[in-house]
Amino acid sequence: MVRMAAVDKFFGPLHVLKEITLDVPQGQVVVVLGPSGSGKSTLCRAINRLEPIDSGLIEVDGRPLPAEGKELARLRAEVGMVFQSFNLFAHKTILENVTLAPIRVRKQPAAEARTTALELLERVGITSQADKYPAQLSGGQQQRAAIARALAMRPKVMLFDEPTSALDPEMVQEVLDVMTGLAAEGMTMLVVTHEMGFARKAAHRVIFMSDGEVVEDSTPEEFFTAPKSGRAKDFLGKIL
Ligand code: ATP
Ligand code: MG
Repeated sequence: MVRMAAVDKFFGPLHVLKEITLDVPQGQVVVVLGPSGSGKSTLCRAINRLEPIDSGLIEVDGRPLPAEGKELARLRAEVGMVFQSFNLFAHKTILENVTLAPIRVRKQPAAEARTTALELLERVGITSQADKYPAQLSGGQQQRAAIARALAMRPKVMLFDEPTSALDPEMVQEVLDVMTGLAAEGMTMLVVTHEMGFARKAAHRVIFMSDGEVVEDSTPEEFFTAPKSGRAKDFLGKIL
């Protein structure tokens, strides 16, 4: 579903993605771990072309990433992204946040978009918040709204970049539960997170990045019980 081959990315002299080769088959949940600055966010942003790459190839669903225009808009519709900061539109209600892109980009009739949005809000457990504004919701509710908004575009893959890092501890689980549900339904997911419980339970595969490289690519079981590299051992020593 997502394929990266020899992807390089520089920020000026800084080599932030080094020959990244990665294949995420349909239905697979991949958790990306690694220290701060290792390139995890850049990897996610490259996949939906929020960040252009300098060389290599990225394909989503068998098609190379378009550089711009309509094709790029279509790709963005197929790749849902959820960020650490919820990024909801502050001056729109939760329901409007979820229906906006399907109406504007997918040209869905408003009534249909609304029906789908209400189903999605129910699925993430915040139906009662539909007519409120983002600031009136808790962080966990806002993040669940952000997930519903991404799902409204019927993405083929979902990218999560530290979706629970900005949340108060008591709200982390409700967001992880939604993500675990999505994983169980077979959504293809790339998840940057420090939630090791989620990584152990929901991931099919763990990728460990360090200094712009994929240093390990293994099952959660292998990674957590027998990391191969010194860098992964150091990392686990600090967080576990
Ligand atoms: P964190 O865990 O802190 O979120 P990360 O693994 O997501 O870190 P990235 O945000 O991908 O790391 O950053 C990788 C490297 O690229 C870092 O050294 C960072 O400072 C640098 N970097 C990221 N964005 C830019 C930018 N727009 N311009 C210049 N350098 C950048
Ligand atoms: Mg990051």
